[in-house]
This record gives sequence, structure tokens and C-alpha cells, in this order.
Amino acid sequence: MREEPNSAPLPPAIAVDPYGEMGQRACPEPPHAYRTPFARDSARILHARAFRRMAGKTQVFTRLASDPPGDHFRSRLTHTLEVAQISRTLARALGLNPELAEALALAHDLGHPPFGHAGERALDSALAVHGLGFDHNLHALRIVTWFEERYAAFRGLNLTLAVREGIIKHSCDYHPAIHPELAEYFLDQKPPLEAQLIDLTDEIAYLTADLDDGLDSGILTVDQVREDVPLFRVFYDRVLAEFPAVPSRITIYEALRRVLNALVTDLMQEVIRRVALLGATTLADIRRAPERIASLSATMEAERATVKQFLYDNFYNSPAMIEAHEHASQIVEGLFALLVANPDLLPEGHRGEIASEGLARTVADYIAGMTDSYIELLWEHHSGR
Ligand code: MG
Repeated sequence: MREEPNSAPLPPAIAVDPYGEMGQRACPEPPHAYRTPFARDSARILHARAFRRMAGKTQVFTRLASDPPGDHFRSRLTHTLEVAQISRTLARALGLNPELAEALALAHDLGHPPFGHAGERALDSALAVHGLGFDHNLHALRIVTWFEERYAAFRGLNLTLAVREGIIKHSCDYHPAIHPELAEYFLDQKPPLEAQLIDLTDEIAYLTADLDDGLDSGILTVDQVREDVPLFRVFYDRVLAEFPAVPSRITIYEALRRVLNALVTDLMQEVIRRVALLGATTLADIRRAPERIASLSATMEAERATVKQFLYDNFYNSPAMIEAHEHASQIVEGLFALLVANPDLLPEGHRGEIASEGLARTVADYIAGMTDSYIELLWEHHSGR
């Protein structure tokens, strides 16, 4: 028997129309014979240099933290592919634009510097001395509008308005008075649902993946997760009852798979519920809503917060991670200071940016583009350490 979806999709006019205003590019291009504007944007992001570099950027582990070391932990690239899979599935199930959701998921972490959040914090504090800051969403916008050079007719990837808006607004709102340069991105309105979803699919992907990598690396134990994370315990115990003889690794995978599915299903149902409650039937209604619509239910939101707190207490801030974070900040801050003092060490292309961007921002842009291994090598080379 064919399985029918258990929830009705959203009104069709809530999905972003790729052939309307949101599908427009800063530099107009003729339509493609058989690809939609958002499918082309996905491809442009996928083929970008910054996208490939995510393979060498930390998701959580700064260095292989397990004993013996493993080569299958998430990188920012594999995390991104997991977010893209979840986002596309969810957008399709909801009746939103799956190609837009996929493009936004593929781009959502492009702006991250090496060494994960430790690297971002270090870069931000190095810039603070110069009255500046580092924000990975704004940096991602700079990458796709300027730093990627692949086309003869324009600088950047010339992405559609919907993708550029979603890149900066998927996880936070920017105030128009503080960011006048972002005026074209509807700062006084909520982003479309395709963009709103990314913040949550990102979190669902990394929370479940980090439990997996944390357990696999031996930093977390299954007893500890079972005891402190009720959402995991429910599914783990159910799998144990159904399959008492399977190896522990499989029980963990099965449980995590069910946790992921439960979170995604809850998000889908809650979006449908909130859209109905608001009486929204068009994208304009979503944009005018007083709050973002994409959310987990109150019950699941509490479970999500518990998982996140557990990971902060036992994984992200574990002694091994704190040591790695210190290593990361030493290198990022050290290299930043060295390059600001010796701008002649910058590659020629970056030196050309100093006049318009200033030295501190130029150095930060250069460092943000590096992979973990590249910044380690460069630091070793320049500092003799
Ligand atoms: Mg992410």
C-alpha cells in the first residue's frame, strides 16, 4: 500500500517563487533552458572554492580526538551535506521550495573560519581591537558576492536575491540602522520559511551528529547520554527492547536515527500548525508575521535544549576540547597579529583589498578562508613554531 503523507502541505503561495522578484540576480542573466534559478544557485555554491575548503574545516573536533584516531568524524562539509539533505526533505514535505532550501543549506556555513567556533571567537576578538567584528553569516555574503571569482561577466557568484537574503538572515535578524549596507534584504521583515528552516535543520543535524561523533570518539559514554538526555533514552530503550541482540553501535545508530526523525517530524508539524494559526496563505503573510514561524513544539523545544546543554557540558567544553580551543585561538590570534604587522606576507590578491577594506579586515578575510591544516602550516612556517 502506498503511504500517504500524514500532514497536508502548506498553501502553495507561501513557497518562494524562483521566477518572481526573489529569483532576480544583481547582474541579470538569461534563463537556463532546463534548470530553475535556485537549482543553478545550489550548483554555483557546490562548485565554489569556499565550499570545497569546508572539507578541511572543523565542525567540532579541532584535532582527531579519539584514541585510536578516526577519519570519519564530521567536517564542516559533511555536516553541510547532512543539513542539505534534511532541509530539502523537509521543504518538499511542507510544499516549500526544496531547491531554495538546499541552496541555503549548502551555503549556511561557507563563512566559517578554520577551527570551528573557537576560530570564530578568536578572529572576532582579534578584530575587536580594531573596532571591528567577525560574523560568519556576513562573511558568507562577502564570499558569494565578492571573493569567489569564477565568472567573466561579474565578481562573485551572482546568486539570486532569495539565496543572498537567506544566507544572512537564516539564523539571526540584522537591524537596518546598524547595517545600512544590507538594506536590500528586507531587514524589517521575517525571511521566507525556506530560510527560517535552516536555523533548525542545522541544529537538528549537528546535535544528533555530535552525539554520534561524541560517542564514537569515546568522549561521551552511552550510559551518560542515556542518563542525561531523555529524548535519547526513550528511543535507545525502545531499540534495545526490539533488537536486544544487536551490537551496541547499531543500537546507538538506530536510536540517533529515530531522534533525528522525531525532531524533523516535530518541526514539520509545528510549522504547519503555526502557519494555520496565523492564517498565513502567502509569502507576504510569513514576512509580516510578528515572530518567526519555523519552530519546534514547546515539548520538543525543551528536549532540544536539554540535548544542547548536555553537549556543552560534556562535549564542547570537555577538557580535550578546551585544550584544542586554546590551541586554535593561539594560532588564529598569533597569525592575525603577525600579518597585521607584516602586510607584505599577504598574497597579492589580498594586498589589493587593503585600500578599500582596511588592513585588519583584509587579514581577517584571508585567515577566514583557510582550512585547519593550512593555517597550522602557515603558522609553523611564519612563526618557526
Ligand atoms: Mg551549520
